[in-house]
Amino acid sequence: MRKPPLSKTRGGSGGSRSRRAGASYVAHSYRCDAIVLRTYKLAEADRIIVALSNTHGQIRAVARGVRRTTSKFGSSLEPFMHTGLQVVPGKSLDIIAQTQTIHPYGAIIAADYDSYGAASAMVETAERLTRAEDTPTTAEHYRLLYGAMAALAKHQHPPRLIMDSYLLRALALAGWGAHFGDCVSCGAPGPHVQVSILLGGTVCFDCRPQGALAPSRQAISLLAALATGDWDAAGQALADATAHELDPGSVIEESSSIVAQYLRFHVEQNLHSLQVMNQREL
Ligand SMILES: [Zn+2]
Repeated sequence: MRKPPLSKTRGGSGGSRSRRAGASYVAHSYRCDAIVLRTYKLAEADRIIVALSNTHGQIRAVARGVRRTTSKFGSSLEPFMHTGLQVVPGKSLDIIAQTQTIHPYGAIIAADYDSYGAASAMVETAERLTRAEDTPTTAEHYRLLYGAMAALAKHQHPPRLIMDSYLLRALALAGWGAHFGDCVSCGAPGPHVQVSILLGGTVCFDCRPQGALAPSRQAISLLAALATGDWDAAGQALADATAHELDPGSVIEESSSIVAQYLRFHVEQNLHSLQVMNQREL
């Protein structure tokens, strides 16, 4: 839908020397599409941008002058924005030379408190899971995050469900997939009624370790649906709750609490943004 080439020229004085420098700049720069994860202030008017890209993994690059109101970058480098970047590799940090907003998800998501909280937990997780340079699945992480941001911006599902589905699937990409069908320990066919955070999903009666959780059947169905991104099944789990006079909101809370515990178990430290989310009734 997009992709006119970004301008390859930069301002500055002419002369053969700077033309050579310009040629080398173009030759060594790369372009990619990215979701902005977070930004840090740097010096007077600059920021370091951390973004997850489709082709170059997690990028940390300087945007010069981005905090000036006249900046050519506009809002394209705000968190959650889906932006085309042209990046020049630098000695310590790369430099962002040009940007082009693809989808202004940042502005849309920031306008809704719950979406903002969900998006914050998602980018914080994405940053942690893709930080290592040799992460082999960064392109899949990018696609997953992009899809979740689009769903949030379009209000396709409640923000908390989009977040929980994203978290389960991002953890699966990192090698920590949770399963909510057969017993994750012995493979005994499900459904089972207990969940082990330690073992990563539903466990049968014989395999259940101490401290296994016993959420409602509907919460387990919801978790199974979110882990695979099956939104029809998620809707069925919540309809089933209503049919059995259970509050769908409390079923969502049960499932969300398990996702949060599972995330904490694997990502170690609490995510700040998830704590903020959990202090609110959603
Ligand atoms: Zn078992």
